[in-house]
Amino acid sequence: MAQTLEQRVYNFSAGPAGLPLPVLERAREEFLVYPGAGASVMEISHRSKAFAAIHEKAKANIKALLNIPDNYKILFLQGGATLQFSMLAQNFLKGTGKSADYIITGSWGNKALNEAKKEGETRVVWNGKDDNYVRVPKQDELDLDANAAYCHFTSNETIQGVEFQTEPDTGNVPLMCDSSSDFLARPIDITKYALLYAGAQKNIGPAGVAVAILRDDMLERVPEGQPSLMDYKLMSEKDSLYNTPPCFAIYIISLTTDWIINDIGGLAKMEALNREKAKVLYDTIDGSGGYYRGHAQADSRSIMNVTWRLGSEDLEKAFVAEAEANGLATLKGHRSVGGIRASIYNAMTLEGVQALSEFMKAFQQKNG
Ligand code: PMP
Repeated sequence: MAQTLEQRVYNFSAGPAGLPLPVLERAREEFLVYPGAGASVMEISHRSKAFAAIHEKAKANIKALLNIPDNYKILFLQGGATLQFSMLAQNFLKGTGKSADYIITGSWGNKALNEAKKEGETRVVWNGKDDNYVRVPKQDELDLDANAAYCHFTSNETIQGVEFQTEPDTGNVPLMCDSSSDFLARPIDITKYALLYAGAQKNIGPAGVAVAILRDDMLERVPEGQPSLMDYKLMSEKDSLYNTPPCFAIYIISLTTDWIINDIGGLAKMEALNREKAKVLYDTIDGSGGYYRGHAQADSRSIMNVTWRLGSEDLEKAFVAEAEANGLATLKGHRSVGGIRASIYNAMTLEGVQALSEFMKAFQQKNG
């Protein structure tokens, strides 16, 4: 059956998530023969000139978008964000005699913590569990250890839909961030971070690659004897090419970052668009007279994952099914928290969000 554009739904998937249509179209154009390479990106050596240019472009684009100074490395690693949970603890906690601070604002922070516990001492310096992860902490609530090996936080909790507006201030303690679900969604001051990493499959590409941005003084701390692929120092020295990298995923990142730069106009504009989209949904929730109940507190609301509940699980089921039938796909909340979740990453259009808002209003009218 011929696949047509009309068959594409508004995709609210949490990840792997929708990619910008112009990116998919360009990948389609270049799919059989990458210009000048005589073959598909999937069919050429990772040491070829053509792939080297793709790799350089992906790095240069990320560097330009985030204004990354020269003393940072940009790495493309495998094992997703989950392997970063272990890798950063193996490289920067294990054997240091120090403990690592973890700020827990939801499910992914807990997963990061659990992997770190396998490598060394950890301390939870703030935990949102008691109020069901509805907010991020204020700076003065953090019980920070001035001697910690590092402090880790999750800038956006994909499942709960809570997001830091600005990063915590950890003084001289290296700040490490899982930015999987809000990477390149807004400008950040990268110089505040020792390490920031993200699985690609939400905002910038397909599954199979994680981006890690690492300040190079941290490399001196990497102990000898790491497994090669989990050694930031070796991976930096080899420019992510110790072994075969996920070439096609890196290629798509080069296109997605091109799209942010050329079509959107940079991260400030990306943020403005993301805020506009999020506002449409939060306004709909807030204007529903309590029919829709947002999960996150207003000051911690995510601009990437909007989460809310209805009056009963039956209504939530009906909402998801009816939305699906109307071309609004994958709105079911994560199985661990229930409710509804609309993931509206960079690639989601304003039009898609407006269609969801209209559907919400109509659903309330019919069932309210
Ligand atoms: N951290 C966050 C914030 C995530 O949303 C996810 C994926 N949903 C992960 C980590 C895990 O990523 P991966 O599947 O790439 O290991």
